[in-house]
Amino acid sequence: MYNVGIDLGGTNIATGIITETGEMICSRSSFTQSGQSYETILHQIAGEVSALLRDAGLDPSAISSVGIGIPGVVNAKAGTVIQCTNLRWYKKPVQSDLESLIHLPVRIENDANLAALAEYMAGAARGVSSCILLTLGTGIGGAIIENGHILTGKSGQAGEFGHMTLVADGIPCACGRFGCMEQYCSATALIRMARQILGQRPDSTLVTLTRGDLTALTAKMIIDAARDGDSAARTTFDRFTHYLAIVLDSLTNLLDPEMILLGGGISSAGSFLLDAVLREFPRFEHGSPRPVPRIALASLRNHAGIIGAGLLSAQGCSFA
Ligand SMILES: [Zn+2]
Repeated sequence: MYNVGIDLGGTNIATGIITETGEMICSRSSFTQSGQSYETILHQIAGEVSALLRDAGLDPSAISSVGIGIPGVVNAKAGTVIQCTNLRWYKKPVQSDLESLIHLPVRIENDANLAALAEYMAGAARGVSSCILLTLGTGIGGAIIENGHILTGKSGQAGEFGHMTLVADGIPCACGRFGCMEQYCSATALIRMARQILGQRPDSTLVTLTRGDLTALTAKMIIDAARDGDSAARTTFDRFTHYLAIVLDSLTNLLDPEMILLGGGISSAGSFLLDAVLREFPRFEHGSPRPVPRIALASLRNHAGIIGAGLLSAQGCSFA
């Protein structure tokens, strides 16, 4: 038997056929147009599941369940999305509504929790009992695994590291507070820092590359320039990894995990990111050596969400 995993993003729907051990044997992806109604998006998801089964040459009877990752706050037990700001979904009974369209059992969960489940069952955290996953993208997601349980908290919001205060009275955040981690350790933050620094560094290759239009800057451009030795890009990246190391230190003090995994778009910087963080991290030892977690890159990249959704019904890990 197989499962279907669905990763519902703000701009696309990615689906895959997942084996019971977390292997993806077929996948597809389609764009969602912003501003579509809840009903339209659910019908699009149902259409994608049908098309996926057709692509894979499978009958629905070969599928035991369908899992779906939501970029928002989820009540998994009730099968309800409490809040998904990107899609403007509030208190939507996604599980029952989707089941009535596709006639297969559906389960829903927060997307960062599913990425952690995938890494734990089939990726870089396999065999580890306690792990934190940080996804560093446009925003920041996170999840905590402790003794094989993914911690969801009282209302499903455990692991929302992006809105922990990192700098007191710091940069305003979309959540309404100030100095959140997301304002210092996301791709968006990296770009903002670069723009500030480049204002005084017209000699940078990034200024040449963007022909002076810093609104065209991307995180990848900054990371590539830093890797190539551009001084302003390097200063930006060092500032970014300094903030990230502070967060890793705080999470270590809080949870003492066996492993911290870095995922999301920024983690495609690979060993360049990892080496920079590992250089910075020991600075926070408090005078004497202490056990530190293994810091590593998440291994399933863009597929973690689909694989985790496909593994929702698998044995071996639970949500608590
Ligand atoms: Zn915030």
